[in-house]
Amino acid sequence: MAKYIFVAGGVMSGIGKGVATASIGRILKSKGFGVTAIKIDPYINVDAGTMNPIEHGEVFVTEDGLECDQDIGNYERFLEENIYTDNYMTTGKVYQTVINRERNLEYNGRCVEVVPDIPNEVIATIKRAGKKVKADFVLIEIGGTVGEYQNMLFLEAARMLKISHPKDVLFILVSYMPVPAIIGEMKTKPTQYAVRTLNSAGIQPDMILARSVLALDEPRKRKLSISSNVLPEDIISAPDVTSIYEVPINFEKENLGNRILKKFGLKARASDLKKWENFVKIIKNSPEPVEIGIVGKYFESGKFTLTDSYISVLEAVKHACFAQHRKPKITWISAEEFEKNPATLKKLKNFDGIIVPGGFGNRGIEGKIKAIGYCRKNKIPFLGLCLGMQLSVIEFARNVCGLKDATSAEFKENSDNMVIDVMEDQKMLLEEKRYGGTMRLGSYSCELKPKTISLKAYGTPEITERHRHRYELNNSYRSILEKKGMVIAGVNPQKDLVEIIEIRDHPFFVATQFHPEFKSRPLNPHPLFKEFIKAAIKK
Ligand code: GLN
Repeated sequence: MAKYIFVAGGVMSGIGKGVATASIGRILKSKGFGVTAIKIDPYINVDAGTMNPIEHGEVFVTEDGLECDQDIGNYERFLEENIYTDNYMTTGKVYQTVINRERNLEYNGRCVEVVPDIPNEVIATIKRAGKKVKADFVLIEIGGTVGEYQNMLFLEAARMLKISHPKDVLFILVSYMPVPAIIGEMKTKPTQYAVRTLNSAGIQPDMILARSVLALDEPRKRKLSISSNVLPEDIISAPDVTSIYEVPINFEKENLGNRILKKFGLKARASDLKKWENFVKIIKNSPEPVEIGIVGKYFESGKFTLTDSYISVLEAVKHACFAQHRKPKITWISAEEFEKNPATLKKLKNFDGIIVPGGFGNRGIEGKIKAIGYCRKNKIPFLGLCLGMQLSVIEFARNVCGLKDATSAEFKENSDNMVIDVMEDQKMLLEEKRYGGTMRLGSYSCELKPKTISLKAYGTPEITERHRHRYELNNSYRSILEKKGMVIAGVNPQKDLVEIIEIRDHPFFVATQFHPEFKSRPLNPHPLFKEFIKAAIKK
């Protein structure tokens, strides 16, 4: 029987609950247990695919093609395991399942109610996800903050699971302790209230992870312990870190793993975090920078620059840089800037490498195309991802092949040169406005051509990569593109879709229709990112 650990958040969002959950998983895995992690998002969207990345952050894609929250990416990176569809739940998805089952008469004619039928469905999904991978521990992160109306049914599911399996369920509260500048002291009161709120949902936390800018000191630990009914040794200090990859190590210093085992009545075990510790040592001892520019459009939010929309790209760059013992220095460049003032393109010269990541819709595309052209002509190492690949083809078609009106069906309804076109099986879906979960999603295979940078990077001609797109390179333009120096480096053999393009006589110009960033792991960086960073260092 698996053990279930629920992780809920107190005080406010954005304090690293996902990384905390992933880190707990890493620790338990390093003690030799089988671990899986589930994310619950309390909104009505059935999946994350229909959400604006500026608002919600990156849409992560699993091997089996689910569009989900970026925290699933954290789990995959920290656990070094693939996570599948059952490990992601939203309110919309749970209700949809229950309603479908009701329509199929699966409730045998009885009245189907919000409670207990919705929490029961949540519990069934959690159990199924654990069973599927034979996990010893199933971590369940409940999105949002305790006290919100939205996540109540999920807390209710957690409470109900505890009643039926009292020895197999643990509750961890990740909460925030502010240090207001005017007071100059860490305050525990908001967390005390968060514990009370959790209590009012019928849940007593077994442990508290105390997030703050600073480490938690003894007086405040004591205070929190008394007010929240949690032993001082079960209140784990979780101060801000320079790298998220330090978190499992910091938690282990506080003996988190064995405290969890003890609560479940299991014997203490040593953890093997040696490789992870070495990795963190490299992060801390790699002062020489590699300057990477990311030309995108999903990071401007009022006066703030948010980078969550591109988190897997960012992490993949980091992994590849650390593998070369270099410090990643990343600059976010607004594509629209190049449209307003093309003279600013010159600044791209200051970077060792440029990435144009994925995206949707018209905004900023002409700026991105200009940036791509600049990298091509000035031999700046370039990596294009999904939309970045499509725009690379458009740029090349316009400026090298002379097809001035080359474009994508995503941007324009009519053009004589639709070099990027809508995929055949997508046409009907778009006409019927069936947008949710219908793109080309998840893992597909790709065959690499000899004598390409890509083949050299992967070291094998047969690969699989994850996708999320509706448009593709129009095969009728392949020969003209190739004639002019574009290399079709990777093709999906089943449907003859172009998956990778390269440009001849360029130190590194590689663009992929898929999203390699989803498969990069801290201790096992993605081969294309690795080659890209090597080329950037050479520059
Ligand atoms: N908008 C493009 C498409 O749907 C690219 C998608 C992406 O970058 N993920 O094909």
